[in-house]
Amino acid sequence: MAKKNQNPHLNPESFRDALATVKEDGKRNWVYPKKVSGYFYRYRTYLSWVLLAILFAGPFIQVNGRPYMLFNIFERKFIIFGAAFWPQDTHLLIFLLLIFFVFIILFTVVFGRVWCGWACPQTLFMEMVFRKIEYLIEGDANQQRTLNESPWNAEKVIKKGLKISVFALISLMIGHLVMAYLIGIDQVKEIVSKPPTENMAGFIGLVAFSGIFMLVFSWFREQACLVVCPYGRLQGVLLDNNSINVLYDYVRGEPRTPIRKNEVAPAPKGDCIDCG
Ligand code: SF4
Repeated sequence: MAKKNQNPHLNPESFRDALATVKEDGKRNWVYPKKVSGYFYRYRTYLSWVLLAILFAGPFIQVNGRPYMLFNIFERKFIIFGAAFWPQDTHLLIFLLLIFFVFIILFTVVFGRVWCGWACPQTLFMEMVFRKIEYLIEGDANQQRTLNESPWNAEKVIKKGLKISVFALISLMIGHLVMAYLIGIDQVKEIVSKPPTENMAGFIGLVAFSGIFMLVFSWFREQACLVVCPYGRLQGVLLDNNSINVLYDYVRGEPRTPIRKNEVAPAPKGDCIDCG
């Protein structure tokens, strides 16, 4: 339950005047999330397997000799759930997009960031694929922090090398997947089966997308939601006091930290959020 802030000096506005991922000197505050477990996380994991399977199967599904989903912005050809939209159908596409955006806005006002937490591809890949691989290779948050701060030695070289290799491999897969949604799986097969010189544009596209995903999931991470994604940036106007939200209530004070048993004169502190 929320309690009144015990710190009389805390500015009630200060909780929103700084980004948690930026230090006071303007440098990046690297996030080391602790491994989580529990009822909802388990179901998020199961759902992520289903969604990832659908995402990867998408380009292979053909209906009447046509892809089931295609977003060919280069030739302005879109196929959504088997229905083709040509350049002359642009007004229909705009209409569909408007319905989609209105639905997303109303859904967010009521239910909060359910899409972000459960279904967005950025979350699926970051939290359910790349983060889990990182835990597997480098350990939990504290072990990752220790490894990053330690000098380069054999263990660090092996762990970092292994992580980068696996990340690069998965980024390559995602790069090819995105290209398959853009130009079709047959075109992608053709590009990878022939020398790069025969389809330089396609080859550059594959390399560029793979590189971008490698950069996003190994380094940029949550910044994509904070500074790039339009939906993330719109949250301030999409949520109100009645929206369902998983957030720390600022009236519980800062810094969020455990209260130790034998502390004589406790400094002003917020609530502990480490109870699991
Ligand atoms: S803010 Fe954007 S990128 Fe981030 S999880 Fe939400 S929809 Fe996805």
